[in-house]
Amino acid sequence: MSNKLSFLSLLCLVAAVLSQRTTHHYVTLTSKKTKTISSCCDIENIKTYDFPNILKERVPDTPTHATVKEYILSRLHQLNQSRWSITTDVFTDQTPFGPKSFTNIIATLDPHVPKRLVLAAHYDSKYFKTGVFLGATDSALPVALILDILLTLDDKLQSRELQDHSLQVILFDGEEAFKTWTDTDSLYGSRHLAELMNSPSPYDVEGRTGIEAMEAFILLDLLGSVDPHALFYDTYPAGSKIFERLRKIEKKLHQEKQLVEHTRQHFVEQAAHGYYKIQDDHIPFLNKGVPIVHVIPVPFPSQWHKLSDNANAINWNNVLNLKKIFTLFLYEYFHLR
Ligand SMILES: [Zn+2]
Repeated sequence: MSNKLSFLSLLCLVAAVLSQRTTHHYVTLTSKKTKTISSCCDIENIKTYDFPNILKERVPDTPTHATVKEYILSRLHQLNQSRWSITTDVFTDQTPFGPKSFTNIIATLDPHVPKRLVLAAHYDSKYFKTGVFLGATDSALPVALILDILLTLDDKLQSRELQDHSLQVILFDGEEAFKTWTDTDSLYGSRHLAELMNSPSPYDVEGRTGIEAMEAFILLDLLGSVDPHALFYDTYPAGSKIFERLRKIEKKLHQEKQLVEHTRQHFVEQAAHGYYKIQDDHIPFLNKGVPIVHVIPVPFPSQWHKLSDNANAINWNNVLNLKKIFTLFLYEYFHLR
């Protein structure tokens, strides 16, 4: 009984700490402002510039991977460099094909600010023996979407009202397994970075580790495909409030007729806590107590891990809708003007 009680109080304490970490004051946008912002959203840059430049074979430690990495870094260097810290986490790990070099890319706005919202995706692509795998949804499109949103909102993010919160973008390398997914053949980049950020590192702020500074971690994966039935589920309780916000934004945009070819709500209302624990780059951070929102469609796109996950897999109306949802979310989260 006493064991049970102390276990219960421990649970309460954990819950209190978690809820404290995820309590966040949002602004709610008026219908007029929602319309104004969403009607300004376009995907021209993603379509003609970022996505085609990232849509190359990106197997870690290969020349085309290096080309894409340089492209991503060149885009991040177009952000205001007096406010953004752009760093790389370069390391070597053993793979089934021997030692390989990996590079995580991290962009942090105002790195001295103690609370960070993380937006993340992986930029490597899966190695295929049988042909060139481009990984359009996995995850060229999510990376292009994040870059485009950052560059579009840079000025507004700098002048955000919520100056004690900042944005960190993490683009992981080595998410994919070289052979079959195992604990050691997968998540090379996220496992490395979560360990690095969990101890004193250049990502510390005000005596907190990079992990402790994370208010939440939103991972985008397998996005942009044509499947209109794919759904997003609220899978982690600590990330529920953010998920709920995304869901409400989608609903509001739909009501305001701001979404294109939008036949159903994709962010699902009923929580599915514990139903899905899809292995992805959030896991090493989840294991260190970071609140997670995993934005990944269920079912996966039909092109998943097939050579057909190429430019034809992308539905640009769907991409525009996603850009609107995440742009509005950042407005509400950071109190953008
Ligand atoms: Zn994949």
